[in-house]
This record gives sequence, structure tokens and C-alpha cells, in this order.
Amino acid sequence: MSTRYDHIVIGAGHNGLVCAAYLARAGRSVLVLEAAEEVGGAARTAEIAPGFRVSACAHLLYGLHPRVIRELSLRRHGLDYASASLQTAVMGADGSVLRLKTDHAAGAIDAADIVALPGFRRRLLKMARHLRPMLLMQPPRLAGRDLKQNIDLARLGFAIRSMGQADMRDFLRIATMNVFDLVQDNFASPLIQAAFAADAVLGTNLGPRSPGTVLTLLYRLIGEVGPVQGAVALPRGGMGAVTQAIAASARDFGATIRMGAAVGRIRVEGERVVGVELADGEFIAAGSVVSNASPQRTLLDLVGPRHLDAGFQRDIGKIRAKGNTAKLNLALSGLPAFRGLDAADLAGRIVLAGSPSAIEAQFDPSKYGEWSPEPLMEITIPSATDATAAPSGQHVLSAVVQYAPYRLKEGWDAARARYLEVLLDHLERFAPGIRQQVVAQQLLTPLDLERDYGMPGGHWHHGELAIDQLLMLRPVNGAARYAMPIAGLFLCGAGAHPGGGVTGAPGHNAAQAVLAEAKPLERAA
Ligand SMILES: Cc1cc2nc3c(=O)[nH]c(=O)nc-3n(C[C@H](O)[C@H](O)[C@H](O)COP(=O)(O)OP(=O)(O)OC[C@H]3O[C@@H](n4cnc5c(N)ncnc54)[C@H](O)[C@@H]3O)c2cc1C
Repeated sequence: MSTRYDHIVIGAGHNGLVCAAYLARAGRSVLVLEAAEEVGGAARTAEIAPGFRVSACAHLLYGLHPRVIRELSLRRHGLDYASASLQTAVMGADGSVLRLKTDHAAGAIDAADIVALPGFRRRLLKMARHLRPMLLMQPPRLAGRDLKQNIDLARLGFAIRSMGQADMRDFLRIATMNVFDLVQDNFASPLIQAAFAADAVLGTNLGPRSPGTVLTLLYRLIGEVGPVQGAVALPRGGMGAVTQAIAASARDFGATIRMGAAVGRIRVEGERVVGVELADGEFIAAGSVVSNASPQRTLLDLVGPRHLDAGFQRDIGKIRAKGNTAKLNLALSGLPAFRGLDAADLAGRIVLAGSPSAIEAQFDPSKYGEWSPEPLMEITIPSATDATAAPSGQHVLSAVVQYAPYRLKEGWDAARARYLEVLLDHLERFAPGIRQQVVAQQLLTPLDLERDYGMPGGHWHHGELAIDQLLMLRPVNGAARYAMPIAGLFLCGAGAHPGGGVTGAPGHNAAQAVLAEAKPLERAA
């Protein structure tokens, strides 16, 4: 007879693992079923050529929640940073370079902007700090609240009210602004403007002039590494080492993780979830099922429309998730020579972005199904600080490439090879000779991210981070508290509040919702 579990978690992305770890820590029996042969989802390390190991998708840590790190003992389980506070070098197409580290800036920046930077950051970091309590809460429902939800609503209001009158007014004024206007109001130098604009749009289908991009910037600044808010860290061993640490913690608490176990169906009987069926037909029973897959995949494919109310089904089908970000990973025979950059810059984060106007111009073609030939890129060279990343003297380069539309006019399968050439040409302008250094490459288009990583539309948040898809509207109105409208079914991934990025927050919150609502199964003595 097969075993029944208190909870099955579908997917061993970092959120599924965090959720499983918290459930197992509470004494529940937990089985994690992952379709891929490795844990991590979009937070994995890939070997792209023998000895060359690089974060396949996500490469930088800035939001992994300190409570998750502490409560799951992730440092003990192997979480480590090759560098805990990276410097950023912003490179313009004209050869100009700006160096940024926390409040300090040097290079292509006006003296007045150097003076303005600490005050600007202080203002944004303070706002982001006030929003932080929202990360680990269940968003209250807009209607029909009970006492617990009223408390959550009060906490939400308090988080904003506690800013004080002047800051609250400032927050309400800028929260709905776009990042383009915000940086124009505060700085004159294009590269410092570009640095903040880039952080606001990376991973989204938004340009600097899109509404809500101040919120996406605040979301990026909400996290901390060690005690430093807004810092950016490079995990030792790549992002896969982070999820391996979470998996080790989950196992240590007693969770079982099965790879190569794709769930084909969530079985519903009498309006209640009773377990899952694997793609090969195996049925596994559970008291409840928590899905790390996207809301769209979970509800429309795995549950199926016949179990869903028509309005709810329509709302889920309408979630906007069109990825506009690709990933380029290169194995290199030597350290690339970026114009004007020194060894310290190469060990940090490199952002290719000239100005907010240039970024907006790169966004434009994507609206019509075309890529930008000179895209915004966020680059790291992990092997510069992490000897485990590449054979001695050789290197790996990891580049997040913005504005590669999911719905490419000519289709990604036909255009992939040409796009790779476009990206290498673009890199060659900033790092002459890099083409000759390429030993191997891996290009992940949004279509690949959907097909190989299960991200709907190849979107790294599983659904756009837009005002109408945040908080109590994420993933859709009426279903933002992790429990779905079918008894025993929960969501725990990036498509749920507060969204994507390697934060662990949706996984943590979903576990709390499950523990509050789903009782453990009675076991035979
Ligand atoms: C190119 C790129 C770069 C990024 N860069 C960064 C970055 O630098 N920093 C950062 O913080 N974030 C970054 N992100 C975002 C971040 O990676 C994601 O938001 C985050 O990893 C989502 O985690 P998740 O656990 O919610 O979902 P996922 O990582 O998508 O995991 C979902 C898991 O569920 C599994 N699954 C789905 N369906 C089934 C099924 N039917 N049966 C079994 N298993 C199933 C999938 O295989 C997958 O393992 C990036 C994303 C991309 C794509």
C-alpha cells in the first residue's frame, strides 16, 4: 500500500523547498515532487562545459529573507557568499564608466550627483524598509474579512502609517510614478540614472517609463545581505548552492524529495484535493497539496477547468506573464577585458546601460515582437571570486539580458542562433576580444525558460510585478492568501505574494497558511 503524506509539494524550486522545510519543521510528513532531475528551478547551477559551472538563471542574491536563512539554518547547510557586497560598474556605449558601491560613486558622474546619492538612497531604503513587513504576511482579502484578516489589514496600514507624515506623503507620491521621472528629478548624470532604472526593470516586461517601476525598484531594495539593506551578493557555488542548502535543511527536518517526478494531475474528489498523479500514472495520496508551479499551470493544467468556477478560471487565464528577459552564460578561455574596467570591477556586477532613455528605446522593439540589438545587460564573472566556477585561469560569464520578448515575431527556435550572434557582437563592443575567448555558451530565451524551467511565458516572477497583480491581487483577487478555492490546495511559488526573486517569502508564507488551515493526517499507531 502506498504511503499517504500530510502534504505534497509540487516542485523543488527554492520556494517549494522553503515551504517543505517549514512544514517538516512543524512535524508534518512532506513529499516534494520535482519534474527536473535537480532541485532549484530557476535557482540552479549548470555545468555548461566540463569544469565550467554557472548559475543557469538567477545569479545574484539580494532578497533571500533573513528569517528564512536563520530559521532554516541555511548557513549551517552550506549557504555561503563568494562576495557579500558587490560593487557595480555601469558602462555606457560611449566608453563612460560609473562605479557604485552603496552610497559611494566615482567615475562618470557629476559632483552634485555624488552629493545627492546618499540622500536619495536613504529615502528609498527607508520606504522599502517600511514595506518589509508585507513580505512575510498573507495579504488580506478585499471583502469578507475575518478577525485574522483584519489584523493583517491593520498591519499593512500600520506599515505605511509608521513612515511618519512627511515620508508617507512622499511614498504615496512616488509609489505610482515611473522610475524614469524619479531619477530625472534627482540626478543629472545619465549613468547613475541608468543604474536605478536598470534595477527597476530587470526581469520585468516594463520600461523605465512604465507605471509601477518605482515599486519594482523598492521591491529590489527591500532585501538585505547580512545586515546591509540593498546589498547584492554572489553565492559561492552559484545559485544552485543556495537551493542545495535549502534542500539539505528540508531533508534534515524530515522532508522527502523525489526528482524526475513530474506531476501530471492534481486529483480532486468531492471538491477536495486528495493527492496527485505522476505523469506515469502513479497516484500519491496527501491531506493537502502545495504547488510551486505557476498559478496558471497549477489550476488550468494540473487541476483542470472542470473543477474551477468560470470567473476564477478566467481570472487565472488572464494573468499577465510575458517574459522579456533572456540569459546568456559563457565559458571563457580567459578573463575578458572590458574597456576601462579593472580587476575589482570584474569581480563585481557590470551593467551595460547608457541612460534611462536608452533603456526605454531598448524596450520599444519588444512591444512589437522584436529584440533590442543593444540590450541592457547585468553581468557577473563568478569565477573572478569563486575558484569552484571554472578551471584555473579560465572563467564563466553570466549575463541577464533584458528585452528579449517571449513572443518573438519570427519565433525563438528559428532566431536563436542569430540572437546569440547579436549578443556576442554587443558584448564585443564593451569587451573587445571576448568572442575569441568563448569556449562554450548557453542561451536561454523566454521560450526555453517556459519549456525547460516551467516559467509561464518565460517570466521570472511567474506573472508580471504590476500594481494590478500585487498584494491582495496576486495571483488574482480573492486567492491571495495561498489557499485556493478548492479545499486542500495551496500555492507557494513566485506567482503568489510577494512575487519572484530568490526570497523564500512565498514559500514561507504558504507554509504558515497550510499549517493554519490543513490539519495533519491521522496516522496508524
Ligand atoms: C534569467 C533569470 C535571471 C534571474 N535572475 C535573478 C537574480 O539574479 N536574483 C534573483 O533573486 N532572482 C532572479 N531571477 C528570478 C528567480 O530565479 C525566480 O523568481 C525564482 O527562482 C522563482 O522561484 P520559485 O521557487 O517560485 O519557482 P521556480 O524556480 O520556477 O520553481 C518551480 C519548480 O516547480 C517545478 N515544477 C513545475 N511544474 C511541475 C510539475 N507538474 N511537477 C513537478 N515539478 C514541477 C519546476 O520544475 C521548478 O523546479 C531570475 C530569473 C530568471 C529566469
